[in-house]
Amino acid sequence: MSDKPIDRNRRQAIKLIAGGFAAIPLAGLMTSGTAVASDLPHVTEDDPIAVGLKYKHDASQAPRVDKPGAPANTQNCGNCQLAQGDGEWVGCSIFPGKAVNKNGWCSAWVMKVG
Ligand code: SF4
Repeated sequence: MSDKPIDRNRRQAIKLIAGGFAAIPLAGLMTSGTAVASDLPHVTEDDPIAVGLKYKHDASQAPRVDKPGAPANTQNCGNCQLAQGDGEWVGCSIFPGKAVNKNGWCSAWVMKVG
């Protein structure tokens, strides 16, 4: 292989391109990993959406009402269809990017299926 300037430039370009393609999957792993609820900030009870939906960290302090097949005192985030994950704090599709307490409740509560 010659060491003409154009060959050196071509080799350098190939290295940069190959390095760039190799970096894309690594960047994807670092940024698109599934966030777990324990990593999420906790929703606060004064969050405007929480206020609107009467969310409380402690369901017994929330104005729960009976729903078909689910007496009020049995409803909490831990048995809500919209909760995601396990643990004391769970994800919730109502509060993207935040975690709610598994013992909490809001008026969007829906009985977990299954
Ligand atoms: S939608 Fe369900 S999981 Fe989310 S805050 Fe309301 S009761 Fe909890």
